[in-house]
Amino acid sequence: SAYLELQGIRKQFGNTNVLNHVDLQIHEGELVTLLGPSGCGKSTLLRCIAGLTDIDGGKIILEQKDIVNLAPRNREIGMVFQSYALFPNLTVSENIQYGMKMRGASKGERRNRSEELLALIDLEDKRDAYPRHLSGGQQQRVALARSLAVQPKVLLLDEPLSALDAKIRKNLRTEIRDIQRKFNMTTIFVTHDQEEALIISDRVCLMNKGSIVQQGTPEELYTTP
Ligand code: ADP
Ligand code: ADP
Repeated sequence: SAYLELQGIRKQFGNTNVLNHVDLQIHEGELVTLLGPSGCGKSTLLRCIAGLTDIDGGKIILEQKDIVNLAPRNREIGMVFQSYALFPNLTVSENIQYGMKMRGASKGERRNRSEELLALIDLEDKRDAYPRHLSGGQQQRVALARSLAVQPKVLLLDEPLSALDAKIRKNLRTEIRDIQRKFNMTTIFVTHDQEEALIISDRVCLMNKGSIVQQGTPEELYTTP
């Protein structure tokens, strides 16, 4: 059965239907990409799953429980945005530890986890640096580590690579895929870049005008017989 299941998600802004009864099932450890043109509702769908936007109808079932009425911080869902959105006045390690601190983790626990994640993203030498002293790619790796620090059940990545230049983008997408596999992290990755979707995904969902219009593995969608 599905680990995360969206059932008939609807969202309107004013009179415009931005999401039209979106259904989606995701298995544990799967990386699913939402691919579609700008404005088709990808970000809105992620924000609805994270609880940052209220839905007008539907269910969001995580491990058999409907999480629609839970506040964002109780949903156990991590999100990384296109703009890294690190806290500028906190160091890299403080940024990574922020969510754990909010949840009452001990200092020792926080430090251990932060060091583990810094090693994973290969930024141990930047632990005491401030975000403004990091490159875009480094900042995005810290944003990823910060999301993982609280051990979410699901990770939502909203165009995490699109602000970066081409070479860094390719390196980082490989890195994201490696980390996702290593943690067996159930992930939804949003992009409007077809090549990126094909390379990174277990499954691709094509979105258009607020609906998922087709889905399959990269091979199923893009291999012509
Ligand atoms: P995508 O991520 O695919 O580019 P979005 O989810 O950002 O698409 O946007 C889908 C549509 O919803 C767009 O037409 C956008 O302008 C509109 N929209 C998004 N957020 C809001 C909002 N807070 N208020 C009104 N309209 C919005
Ligand atoms: P992106 O294209 O990167 O998905 P947008 O520029 O569409 O992001 O949206 C940036 C912010 O503005 C989001 O918080 C979104 O909800 C909001 N927004 C987008 N479109 C509208 C709109 N038509 N009216 C009000 N808010 C909007």
